[in-house]
Amino acid sequence: MSSALPKPVVIEDVVPPKCVSCKRLVSPDEKGVSFSCPNCGKYIIWRCAKCRKQGVTYQCPICGFEGP
Ligand SMILES: [Zn+2]
Ligand SMILES: [Zn+2]
Repeated sequence: MSSALPKPVVIEDVVPPKCVSCKRLVSPDEKGVSFSCPNCGKYIIWRCAKCRKQGVTYQCPICGFEGP
């Protein structure tokens, strides 16, 4: 018995992304957006489709930067 075939690497989503504005989980099938903080670049900001559409402001928890 040999296990020549390598197992496919599964990248687990350890923490599901959360919208920084409404704290709701951003599901993979909705058109949420993620981008690094334009001010400090240390935090990946997630926004759900709803908050994006409504233009809800977000705040970086690291540097406190607020943006539209
Ligand atoms: Zn949201
Ligand atoms: Zn920041």
